[in-house]
Amino acid sequence: MNSPRGARAFDLIVLGAGPAGASAAKVAADLGLRVALVDKKSFPRDKLCGGGLTGRAIDYYRRIFDAPLPDIPLERRSDIAFHAFGEDLGLSCDAPPLHLAMRRDLDAHLLERALEAGATDLTGSMAQLDPDGPSLRIGDGKIDAPLLIAADGVNSATAKQLFGSAFDRDKIGFALEVESPGADATRPLRIDFGAADWGYGWQFPKACGTTIGVGGVMARNADMKGHLAKYLDALGINPDLPVKGQFLPFGDFRETPGKGRILLAGDAAGLVDPITGEGIAHALHSGELAARAAADALRRGMPDMALADYTRALRPIHGGLRHAGRLRHLMFRDSLRRTFIKSFRNSRTLRDEYLRLLAGETEYGPLMRKMALRLPSFALRALTRR
Ligand SMILES: Cc1cc2nc3c(=O)[nH]c(=O)nc-3n(C[C@H](O)[C@H](O)[C@H](O)COP(=O)(O)OP(=O)(O)OC[C@H]3O[C@@H](n4cnc5c(N)ncnc54)[C@H](O)[C@@H]3O)c2cc1C
Repeated sequence: MNSPRGARAFDLIVLGAGPAGASAAKVAADLGLRVALVDKKSFPRDKLCGGGLTGRAIDYYRRIFDAPLPDIPLERRSDIAFHAFGEDLGLSCDAPPLHLAMRRDLDAHLLERALEAGATDLTGSMAQLDPDGPSLRIGDGKIDAPLLIAADGVNSATAKQLFGSAFDRDKIGFALEVESPGADATRPLRIDFGAADWGYGWQFPKACGTTIGVGGVMARNADMKGHLAKYLDALGINPDLPVKGQFLPFGDFRETPGKGRILLAGDAAGLVDPITGEGIAHALHSGELAARAAADALRRGMPDMALADYTRALRPIHGGLRHAGRLRHLMFRDSLRRTFIKSFRNSRTLRDEYLRLLAGETEYGPLMRKMALRLPSFALRALTRR
């Protein structure tokens, strides 16, 4: 490979070492590529997140990192209490298990595994992107490669540089979270649809504390702090805990996830489920798909083909997110809300299907087909018109 004088050459640069970047770097290194893994932070580092790992996320982890479970403190929970708009929808005690992790531990572990596979550690480095390279200036040095995977999160500076903004402010979600000390790990996980407008609340009791948060479409929630205060009050949690907030890229994925020889993965590509807020599974999976597309294009000597191949590989994820976006209208539109509450509370099948969806055992397409059999025709029409 040709390289400018003084630049260190790699086959692939991965920018961002969260789940998407670590997954991309691990897969690419396993496929024999020389990979630079760059992050502005040194690890371990904190990341605002509930740390809920669904069965889907664990399946991807298993396949990509070749181990049954991350070797970090994890809690396994099968009891989930559902609420919607202040109403109790029932407790599911035999749900497929959800694992809870602290992101500080999880991300440090994923990074370690990517480095063990052979990726070069360039974490703790601020980098300046030249999209034409693609190359990165890091301090006085420069690295370049024929392809770059940008997994630099929801505020992606790369997406901003390529498209003018990291996300669409009219569609982006926003979430607030607190950590409450002294958890009761026997308490069920709790999910409250509608705790924020077009959003939800969650209470995840872990051994070392409880993560509580609310998130929803930002444009519909001018007073997200007010929603959090109301939610904490309803749960009987101290209202004076330190609050942290972050954007949540749901419902606004990029149809073409990148430009030229730059591929976007994970949050940078907008791959968060608009109903569950789950992003770790899609981050792991999209990182894997981007790395495979890059390796394949390089093997064929056609790096310019990587983006088209990657876009095609993402179709099933994009299809699922589109379905979820439609379903969100059924859950949150005022006129359809009662129908949703009634269907979810009264239909064991629907609840079980939703839990199977969380577990990665089914997809939105089949779930929506099952719903179609149970919904009144007006709700169905509203849903399919979207
Ligand atoms: C409040 C909240 C709760 C959530 N709860 C859950 C949950 O329970 N389960 C779930 O599945 N998902 C959850 N999510 C979503 C999940 O956190 C994200 O979808 C997931 O972290 C995406 O991974 P990523 O690798 O794409 O990005 P990130 O995890 O954000 O990683 C991006 C990395 O890029 C680095 N970076 C950024 N800019 C630069 C730069 N310029 N140069 C170098 N490096 C850079 C950052 O330091 C970071 O390490 C939650 C999100 C929020 C906000």
